[in-house]
Amino acid sequence: MKIKDIMQTMAYGPAPESSAEARDWIKTRSVIPHFIGGKFPAPEGETTEVYNPATDEVLTRVALGTEAEVDAAVKAARAALPKWTALAGHERATYLYALARHVQKRERFLAVLETLDNGKTIRETRDIDIPLVARHFYHHAGWAEMIESDFPGLSPVGVCGQIIPWNFPLLMLAWKVAPALAAGNTVVLKPADLTPLTAMAFAEICVEIGLPAGVVNIVQGDGATGAALAGHSDVNKLAFTGSTDVGRVLRRQLAGSGKRLSLELGGKSPFIVFEDADLDAAVEGVVDAIWFNQGEVCCAGSRILVQEGVAERFFAKLDARLQTLRVGDPLDKTMDMGAVVSRKQLARITALLAQGEAEGATLRRAPVILPETGAFCAPGYFSGTAPAHTVSQTEIFGPVATTLTFRTPDEAVTLANDTRYGLSASVWSENINRAIETAAAVKAGVVWINATNIFDAGAPFGGMRESGFGREGGRLGMLEYLTRPQIARKPRLEPSAPDIAPFTGKADRPAIDITAKLYIGGKQVRADGGQSYTVMGKNGAIGQAAMANRKDIRNAVEAAAKAGGWGGVTAHNRAQVLYFLAENLEQRRAEFVAALTAAGTPKPGDEVEAAIRRAFWAAAQADKFDGSVTATKSRHVTMTVNEPFGVMGIVAPDEAPLLGLLALILPAVAMGNRVVAVASQSHPLVGARLYQVLETSDVPAGVINLVTGERDVLAKTLAEHDEVAALWYCGSASGAAMVETASVGNLKPVWAETGVRDWQTPDPDLLRKATQGKTIWIPYGA
Ligand code: NAD
Repeated sequence: MKIKDIMQTMAYGPAPESSAEARDWIKTRSVIPHFIGGKFPAPEGETTEVYNPATDEVLTRVALGTEAEVDAAVKAARAALPKWTALAGHERATYLYALARHVQKRERFLAVLETLDNGKTIRETRDIDIPLVARHFYHHAGWAEMIESDFPGLSPVGVCGQIIPWNFPLLMLAWKVAPALAAGNTVVLKPADLTPLTAMAFAEICVEIGLPAGVVNIVQGDGATGAALAGHSDVNKLAFTGSTDVGRVLRRQLAGSGKRLSLELGGKSPFIVFEDADLDAAVEGVVDAIWFNQGEVCCAGSRILVQEGVAERFFAKLDARLQTLRVGDPLDKTMDMGAVVSRKQLARITALLAQGEAEGATLRRAPVILPETGAFCAPGYFSGTAPAHTVSQTEIFGPVATTLTFRTPDEAVTLANDTRYGLSASVWSENINRAIETAAAVKAGVVWINATNIFDAGAPFGGMRESGFGREGGRLGMLEYLTRPQIARKPRLEPSAPDIAPFTGKADRPAIDITAKLYIGGKQVRADGGQSYTVMGKNGAIGQAAMANRKDIRNAVEAAAKAGGWGGVTAHNRAQVLYFLAENLEQRRAEFVAALTAAGTPKPGDEVEAAIRRAFWAAAQADKFDGSVTATKSRHVTMTVNEPFGVMGIVAPDEAPLLGLLALILPAVAMGNRVVAVASQSHPLVGARLYQVLETSDVPAGVINLVTGERDVLAKTLAEHDEVAALWYCGSASGAAMVETASVGNLKPVWAETGVRDWQTPDPDLLRKATQGKTIWIPYGA
């Protein structure tokens, strides 16, 4: 073909990137081993084939780590920990900087290696994956440098187990390893068995830069290897990215272990196009939302929601764009899409697409001729999908979106939130008010305005709801790898069964009804079952407390759910309400001192004083515990807002029955949550006295609901309840295991504390635990 002919058609010619260097590297590695204690020991267990999914050729083999190998890696990480932790932040920064530089030097090699292993295009590995890997190590070199000044009083968590998926192999490694190392932890990382190559290349870089042996360990393998790592008794934290199903398995497996857990799971993210959007930009957005990385992106904009008035025009433009997409050899620099990761994944996608068609949706696909070998999948979208269709609810993890139209902005938000996930959202509108209002209303950890799928090491990333908990990137990401050292604490005991025999003693408030009630929806109500239990004081029985049951918890959660306005009032308003609550506590100071004295708690006067101060502290924090604005990419500003969870469950400790309860309720409420709190099981009457305080303060009905009864029965109901978005539990070790297990339904974050604590000092960590970061990308500047 002559140049003149090419100019006539403007067709692309082949433009393959050379894979010679990467192939030579692979050739000399007939099996990809583990990286343990700075060495590459010969694998003990089985090995499995590693394919190039674009050609079906076998590239090499990879070790499947055994329990013994996992154990060796954890031991190496443990042995390396003291010295690594003891290094000055600056010294760790120099190692992270060296990793960044060496990744940069090898960008081309790593990009090709990733493309061979995963099937994604060289355009993406070269322009997105690998530059972001380098960026991540640079950014975290910075956090290491600043660790002493910016995270005072915090120390590393210890040995971190990290499990990553195959869709961004080296990038997910960087997201996990960089913050862990910056904070002073050592790691054992398990890559996905489908994509082990770049992790191996990274291990070689670790050796090359002289990273101390054992600081980074990599155990290759599949789910069984991952399970062995998660279950290892000497791992202090587990960070997981992968499917929601495996996230659930891990939540269950780790319940009661005391290990820190962060989960970055799946998504079914909305891509919302308003009628005032720049439609051409939005169509290009779809390309990046669902056809980027073959749609194998946890935060893919996989549900396209378009306002009715522009739907016809939008879909006409989208169809036109679909005609021009190029799918084929991922090493060809002109390709938009490469191969999906494996034939198995292709079969999964194909089955879901067939199901969508069987349920009545119409599948439109790009008119591409797919290569004869390899796992290629034509991109497209469904029209005529209903919200209840399987393809509308299930993550396809392939290059096909569902579509729906909406009439009003409210309807758009309802549809956007009609999913169990909450990872990301993309909002398209030229009207700044509408875009930002929508960003505020969607349940998602990341929101892009007039953009999609952009990432930066400084912008926290992570999900809400069943997309998991924890953040990666930025300051919030660092906090996942840091902990406040605790002094050894006495474990909390199992509560004894409540005594529900009829009461015969002397009431602590003889003049009033001796059975305290529950406080739900701003009213004192009797327990649903009509039961009560005897409360013991230091000199015997002192009264009866209502024995709430599951139904009472459900009623309280319903009341809390209805009080949603609390999250929307200004922080100043919330502060005022809390100051007034403090004032009302002050007025009843003597009464509370008497109640605590009757309960037999030590130093009742000090406890009431601390409780009043805690209300002042929470009021002060209401408008000061702020999010952040981060410089990320050009033409964007990225803000991270501390959003309340919504309805939180709180299970108060037995020690410090007044202060322990308020120390938990007040920060949660200050941050805009509504709470259902279970008062101390053994001293519930102290908690019940708060009803009058709440009635006379201006706390809106339903914002604080208080119940009394058998702690673990009520805690279990809170843990299982889908409307309860986060749970704080103070109780026994077996109770902690129970609530963590019971939380798998909606995967709510559970903070369980099993040691008796001194509640006298305010805990700033509770403010963070009461919020979830929402990262909003806003167009900004020229
Ligand atoms: P997966 O959950 O099957 O596997 C992820 C990792 O977990 C792999 O390394 C795998 O070997 C390991 N694993 C599997 N079973 C395990 C077990 N029982 N115990 C411990 N480890 C186990 O997911 P996948 O198919 O590899 O990846 C796709 C999924 O990952 C999608 O659902 C996607 O949404 C999700 N993902 C999420 C994010 C995020 O940040 N939220 C990012 C990328 C991918």
